[in-house]
Amino acid sequence: MIKLSFYGAAQEVTGSCFLLENLPAGKAGGKNKILIDCGLFQCPKFCDIRSQKPFDFDPKSIEALFVTHAHVDHTGRIPKLVKEGFCGEIYSTHPTKDLAEIMLKDSVGVMIKEAERDGGVVPYTEEDVDRVMSFWEGKNYRERLQIGDFAVTFYDAGHVLGSAMILVACPDRSGGKNILFSGDLGNPANPLLNGFEKVVGAEILVLESTYGDREHEGIEEKKLKLERVIEQSIVQGGVLMIPAFSLEKTQELLWEISDMLRKKQVPNIPIFLDSPLAIRATEVYQKYYSYLNKAYVDKRSFSFLNFPQIHVALTTEESKKINNAPSPKIIIAGSGMSTGGRILHHERRYLQDPKSTILFIGYQSPASLGRRIQDGADEVTIFGEKIPVRCSKETIYGYSAHPDYAALFEFVREKSDTLKKIYTTHGEPKSSLTLVQKIRDNLGIEAYAPKYGESVEI
Ligand SMILES: [Zn+2]
Repeated sequence: MIKLSFYGAAQEVTGSCFLLENLPAGKAGGKNKILIDCGLFQCPKFCDIRSQKPFDFDPKSIEALFVTHAHVDHTGRIPKLVKEGFCGEIYSTHPTKDLAEIMLKDSVGVMIKEAERDGGVVPYTEEDVDRVMSFWEGKNYRERLQIGDFAVTFYDAGHVLGSAMILVACPDRSGGKNILFSGDLGNPANPLLNGFEKVVGAEILVLESTYGDREHEGIEEKKLKLERVIEQSIVQGGVLMIPAFSLEKTQELLWEISDMLRKKQVPNIPIFLDSPLAIRATEVYQKYYSYLNKAYVDKRSFSFLNFPQIHVALTTEESKKINNAPSPKIIIAGSGMSTGGRILHHERRYLQDPKSTILFIGYQSPASLGRRIQDGADEVTIFGEKIPVRCSKETIYGYSAHPDYAALFEFVREKSDTLKKIYTTHGEPKSSLTLVQKIRDNLGIEAYAPKYGESVEI
């Protein structure tokens, strides 16, 4: 019997964690268990209280962990898993391994600050992350791994550098089942990556549904909008704040702004990249250059951090100096939903400035500070201080690192010959359920949005 259990990202967007078990009948205690992802619950806090709770399974009983990509909502509970007895191998692609180490170590600092501010405990240290990395192995796309009863293959998901869909071939008396875990899929309009690749033969699909109910702007439209927002900021003479996720959106943004500056599509303006995490992640993008979309990045001498207008702020001192730079200026800083990080310092200073602008380029989860600003709050609280919101607010959805409804639907449709059942995950209830309904109505495939802790036999 193959059993699949949903221990995160079930009708919500964080905490991805799926347990797959092969329980042969008649073999008492015989088991073969693998996990796909082990992420932090991040709503509303960076490390939400649910991330601290005991696992609903015994970490010691898990034989291997497969990681789709480096975002902490897919990796952030791995050190806790190891601390609580998991001692199997961890597998991902090579870039995911490098990025995950950076992301996990950075998250320790964020969690320490959060615990100091709000109380609570920090679930692991940098040393715990080092221990995790000691049994983490990088693999190539399309390399087939046999782990116990399961044959596992990574395929490019086009979401962030190194991101993967994971195809698991499961043994079964009736001839076996192929389960595809989509992980987070990419936005096909993202020019930096190669887009999600075609995978054939999946019968069961565990599908992300972040934007299962929304259409994105097209690639040209989003570029024009960015150009307009930058120009407007320059005319207003204020600061353009962009809360950005350190992986993917920051690199895409850097690439597009540098391209606009090079082509003189926008006037000269200094750009401050105020995020040690984003700077380090960008260096990993540089290292794994060959994983990027060659049609797009090969045309020019390729570098994210080497153009005249860019200033990087690694240290706190360098970050503070950004205040002294005259406006107009662009500040790109984490975190993407303003739930922590250096963006908060800039928001505290400039949200009240009518000449300034805040530009949202990514998903803002409910209850996050970013969502409150985006939804039109007149006043927000930052570091215990009430800050009036008087700046302009803009949103560009096209920068999403996730596919919109149309792209998700196409992803499913091209597999509809073999697919027998779909479980939608990694989406708010409205989004997951809308996608479920559309799949059922238009493709006639059984689809279902599981709840936390549910198990299904497949
Ligand atoms: Zn992701």
